[in-house]
Amino acid sequence: MMMSEKAKQHVESCRFCWMCHHICPIGNATGHERSTPRARALGISLVNRDAIELDEIMDNIYECAGCGACVHDCITGWDPVMFTKEVRAQAALEDKLPAYINAMVDNCLDTGNAYGKTAICDRLAMAITEHSKTADTLLFLGVDARYEACEQGYKAIKVLENAGVKFTVLADEPASGAQLDFLIGATEETKEQMQAAAKVMNGYKTVVFYDPADAKTVKQTYGEYGIELDCKAVTYTSFLAELVRSGALQAKNKGKTVVFQDPFQLSRDLEETEEAREVIKAFAELHEMLLVKGETVWAGNVLMSKYIPDVMKLVAERRILNATSIGESVIVTASVSEYVSLKNASEGKVEILSLEDLILD
Ligand code: SF4
Ligand code: SF4
Repeated sequence: MMMSEKAKQHVESCRFCWMCHHICPIGNATGHERSTPRARALGISLVNRDAIELDEIMDNIYECAGCGACVHDCITGWDPVMFTKEVRAQAALEDKLPAYINAMVDNCLDTGNAYGKTAICDRLAMAITEHSKTADTLLFLGVDARYEACEQGYKAIKVLENAGVKFTVLADEPASGAQLDFLIGATEETKEQMQAAAKVMNGYKTVVFYDPADAKTVKQTYGEYGIELDCKAVTYTSFLAELVRSGALQAKNKGKTVVFQDPFQLSRDLEETEEAREVIKAFAELHEMLLVKGETVWAGNVLMSKYIPDVMKLVAERRILNATSIGESVIVTASVSEYVSLKNASEGKVEILSLEDLILD
């Protein structure tokens, strides 16, 4: 299999050890050795040695969420996310993607989202229309908020309205490229989608990213792929923190006790851990659950629930257990995808709130 020298080095240098074995949310959910990062590296190594075919490991390649917990924990500095993404890109080039991934890639290219959806709910559509006028600031909602959790997208808009922010929301928001990057890595198709999105974003002074997956992609991956960005890209959480600090967002702390689910894109990739906490502390009493900030455990997402729904439910249930096992019953999220995943698994045992829920309560 064609791989960059760097990816090959990481695959062959990985000691297939136990150091990151226990922290993989997928491996822990399935209980299967094959789901762990070390097994994935071993599988790729076997393909590189022509011992097995690429097709044999492709389902396993798509079990990885790219959450980076293994990268964070590998003290020898090897990067399973990097080599997994390279294998995805290579499989796309060799036409060896699983059919369920091919279908989502086609959807991304046809409709801009992996779900193949074209219509958003009426409430969100009306709120977007009210912000069609061009302002300096663009609120970028992202595909999960638009197509899979439109109530949360609507609330994200209402919070900024309450703070008196003048902003635009696009009816024809381009895809950031985050989903294509997850599905097929640094291919020409992904870069073209990113370039088209950057062109739109560059028409604004500031772009606020509601979805941490988009924020990470634009603030980090665009640079790695040579996509130029002239606007100021900020996370929704840091934007909210500034609104609380300035007093534009009036806070009333009702004393509700909550814990916070750090999205890995913020806490590990962008090293942003305090802004969401600052906002939460203005509206509630914040406790900390097990494994937070850079050590966070991913709680699932919408995209992977389309092809491994049972695993996503287990991933979310395990994260809920991290809160309930220390007596906590309210989890606040800052990722719309984790919100949906946790909500689907909560079964009334725990309350799942978004930051917007907390603020608008
Ligand atoms: S990525 Fe690092 S910690 Fe994980 S199995 Fe390989 S060498 Fe061990
Ligand atoms: S990136 Fe996350 S899901 Fe993927 S192997 Fe590493 S720990 Fe597991």
